[in-house]
Amino acid sequence: MPSFDPKKITKIHQHLHSHLPSDPALRVKALETILVEKGLVNSENIDRWVEVYADDIGPKRGAHVVARAWTDPAFKARLLADGSKAVGEMGYAGPASGHLKAVENTADSHNVVVCTLCSCYPFAILGMAPNWYKTAAYRSRVVREPRAVLAEFGVELSEDTAVHVWDSTAELRYLVIPERPAGTDGMTVDELAKLVTRNSMIGTDRDLKTGGV
Ligand code: FE
Repeated sequence: MPSFDPKKITKIHQHLHSHLPSDPALRVKALETILVEKGLVNSENIDRWVEVYADDIGPKRGAHVVARAWTDPAFKARLLADGSKAVGEMGYAGPASGHLKAVENTADSHNVVVCTLCSCYPFAILGMAPNWYKTAAYRSRVVREPRAVLAEFGVELSEDTAVHVWDSTAELRYLVIPERPAGTDGMTVDELAKLVTRNSMIGTDRDLKTGGV
């Protein structure tokens, strides 16, 4: 029978760990290096994907969807009825918009989105998820004390305002349609889209600024 020496095992374990990078960024770099070396991916493609999600898609697509909903009541009705289909109409269908539900803020109700299990997010229209969205603190607290968490983001809700917390899954993701700010009647869809913040489409921002217009 093989002998079991806990001290020896501990030593081997520590030795193995001493070869592993502890920093997640280093681990990702190590993984990327191996995948590139094995010819499974190339660095240009990885850089391009990061660029696409950070700059091209960003939250801009979502902002256009919201601005169109503000200006086109028929589109808004379609968006609320079937988010994925309406987003597809704008050419924004993507891997993470398979089942998308749009939820609308009103004067007396507020919506906020979380993924309590991990970090499911509508990447196809909002780009990369912010880091705070993935933290255990946000994921656990926003379902238990949404008003307190929202207040920390600067969203102060009166007791009369109902709060709806939507828990995302890999199959179903959410887009909050914030309220259109007052005094924006003459604005074009492109101008309106600039007023829509990423956080307002997650629900951690509410009163949009009109940018001095
Ligand atoms: Fe998730």
